[in-house]
Amino acid sequence: MNSILEKRLFTIVRNEPLAVGIFQLTLSPKGEMFTFKAGQWVYLYLLKESNSEWAHAAFSIASAPSDSSKTIDLAIKVYKDYTKRAQILKIGEMVRIQGPFGMFTLNISDEPLVLYAAGIGVTPFMSMIREEFARGQRREIILFYTNKTKSDIAYEIELRELMRIYSQFTVVFFLTRSAPGHWNGETKRLDATIIRRMVADPVSSEHFMCGPNEFMDAITKILISLGVDIKIKLRKERFS
Ligand SMILES: Cc1cc2nc3c(=O)[nH]c(=O)nc-3n(C[C@H](O)[C@H](O)[C@H](O)COP(=O)(O)OP(=O)(O)OC[C@H]3O[C@@H](n4cnc5c(N)ncnc54)[C@H](O)[C@@H]3O)c2cc1C
Repeated sequence: MNSILEKRLFTIVRNEPLAVGIFQLTLSPKGEMFTFKAGQWVYLYLLKESNSEWAHAAFSIASAPSDSSKTIDLAIKVYKDYTKRAQILKIGEMVRIQGPFGMFTLNISDEPLVLYAAGIGVTPFMSMIREEFARGQRREIILFYTNKTKSDIAYEIELRELMRIYSQFTVVFFLTRSAPGHWNGETKRLDATIIRRMVADPVSSEHFMCGPNEFMDAITKILISLGVDIKIKLRKERFS
């Protein structure tokens, strides 16, 4: 059987912290790797000692498809019992993965890509951004990425490095609660002024957002006010 409903055995090959309260699992399949598109998600089944299922939850794949022939990465924010248990998974432990699922994927297009992430909502965008560059795409990409404090930011070093390498890539970091003295990003909430300043032509850009509902609702209103046809040009991923 080779279907998205199959629950494939994977081994934990790495489990490392990414930011405060966020860790990254790297998983390797016991058999063949499945194929997926950047932006898709999987169910991660945690197992009991008997290898029967304990519980499962959905996680976007953070690694790029073209870099995932042997392993996939999941970035997970710790909340309650399930994620606390996932956080202490040890190298060599087994889990099951079902999927991939979801339609939060990129169109083949040259239109500028505008991504809006709040907190752990950055995970599907890491896959998309990495994949675009791995495939040598030249389209302009802007990531608006908001967190409460600097220690909440996942993938900051990699994103800054990608911005240094690729002139068509810009990340605008926002810290909404507190910022260190040397902080060179924004310290307020994402608003229409910044979008207008950073996005040359919002109407003919593709917009993708992932974060809490209030965050996505606020940006949706801004995009409507900027004349974006949200039925065609806006895609959202909800984590709840
Ligand atoms: C499409 C999608 C993509 C997502 N991508 C991401 C992502 O990339 N990163 C991320 O951090 N989050 C992501 N999420 C959110 C993530 O799925 C939830 O945040 C996570 O499930 C909540 O974890 P928790 O510890 O609060 O779960 P819990 O509330 O503890 O429970 C999760 C599940 O485990 C079961 N469970 C809990 N405790 C027990 C127990 N003692 N015994 C048996 N069963 C138990 C629950 O019944 C439930 O089914 C995504 C969600 C969706 C829908």
